[in-house]
Amino acid sequence: TTLTGTEIRARFLDFFASKDHVKMPSSSLVPHNDPTVLLTTAGMQQMIPYFLGRETPPAARMTSAQKCFRTTDIDKVGNQRTLTFFEMLGNFSVGDYFKREAIAYAWEFLTKVVNLPADRLHPTVHPEDDEAARYWHEIAGYADEAIVRLDENWWGPPGASGPCGPDSEIYYDRGVEYGCGTADCKPGCECERFLEIWNLVFMQFYQDLDGTRTPLPRRNIDTGMGLERLTMVLQGKESVFDTDLLRTIIDRFALITETPYGQSAKTDTSLRVIADHGRALVFLAADGVLPSNEGRGYIFRRILRRAVRHGKLLGLDKPFLAEATNTVIDLLGEHYTELKTQRERIIEVLSQEEKKFSQTLNTGLNLLNELLADLQQQHKKVIPGEEVFRLYDTHGFPVELTQEIAAEHGFSVDTSGFEESMQRQQERSRAGASNAFSQAQDDRALTEILKREGTTEFLGYTGLVSSSK
Ligand code: ATP
Ligand code: MG
Ligand code: MG
Ligand code: MG
Repeated sequence: TTLTGTEIRARFLDFFASKDHVKMPSSSLVPHNDPTVLLTTAGMQQMIPYFLGRETPPAARMTSAQKCFRTTDIDKVGNQRTLTFFEMLGNFSVGDYFKREAIAYAWEFLTKVVNLPADRLHPTVHPEDDEAARYWHEIAGYADEAIVRLDENWWGPPGASGPCGPDSEIYYDRGVEYGCGTADCKPGCECERFLEIWNLVFMQFYQDLDGTRTPLPRRNIDTGMGLERLTMVLQGKESVFDTDLLRTIIDRFALITETPYGQSAKTDTSLRVIADHGRALVFLAADGVLPSNEGRGYIFRRILRRAVRHGKLLGLDKPFLAEATNTVIDLLGEHYTELKTQRERIIEVLSQEEKKFSQTLNTGLNLLNELLADLQQQHKKVIPGEEVFRLYDTHGFPVELTQEIAAEHGFSVDTSGFEESMQRQQERSRAGASNAFSQAQDDRALTEILKREGTTEFLGYTGLVSSSK
């Protein structure tokens, strides 16, 4: 019988509990006491004070399913494996067990608990980590040649001092039919054949600012495995979106938009984007992130606006994100109870922002289309920075959205010109002008446009508006 995503999460946590790990709740998506990142991106984040010896951990062995959000992955959403919000399963050792046990536990879980076929699993190690390669040989029987050595298998503080070390990533071979067919298609290849499922990090050095590494007196283990990816493999699905953790959301949107999933690559991408972004927004709102023009609030806004645009691409003209909320809560509310207790608040935050943006989206899209048509006539392929800034500042168009739409039409964006306009604006507002980013401004801008242009008729955003003024 096939395990559900919920059952897989439980199997993982129970397995590590049976190995004396204390189950830790997921921490919030808003990092606690960590100014270096806007949102939680990995299970180890809440463990950092323990790894650094600054705080005493509840136990030396811990396990968790952590809510994660990765802004860096936004543009990849739509492929088979990438989400912005996902759950990361992890086991952690603070100065307790190390490399051998971490590999043995991972192997036992994958091959004995969830019964993945060993011949589909491919461990990789860092080129200098002979020790890890030896354990993979001793524990799982891999010959040295069968273990791919990858330079990128290294975890460390980027450009700073701190603990670091090699890691060992486990890939699942989906089969040659998913491969790119090149001679060096192997684990680590960008194509869809080898799916990275689990990363085992061996924190064994301390790195100085000058790059000198010294062995840590107390070594740590930090591992992370994407629940959706593991579920995709165990349920034999084509993508993370086809697992029970996400497919219900897709189906819900397919129904509302009357767009069958699987109809075309283009509509599937939009369905995947709104399913992923909708789910992410529900979790972000539950953790108290509110839309704004700065920091994590801007990430929220950007995600929501991107979702709304893809909703429009599917022909949706009514608010739809509240729909996602109930579906997401039905799916994940048992485990993440904050979703249930905050249902009303989440719906309110999402609906309000969605309504606000829908009003400006059509106008903004029209302006952008006209702009592109003008540039086209002048045989220009770059949108001037100040125009991009105007769309952002006056119409609430995230730069990334302008960039994305521009790219769809073969245009690029003058980003440094945009930055300059942004800077000038900031200087102006520092000099005492009103807050340019407030909602009042958005509303005022909208009123101005309506006055200037009359109520604009929506002409469609997929093609360029051919008639220009
Ligand atoms: P990728 O190479 O696919 O971007 P990563 O190397 O950035 O993944 P890690 O930082 O090693 O990922 O995180 C540990 C695990 O979390 C990965 O092995 C994968 O299973 C999962 N994971 C990472 N990013 C994503 C994502 N955007 N969506 C779904 N799962 C993810
Ligand atoms: Mg990544
Ligand atoms: Mg990777
Ligand atoms: Mg990785």
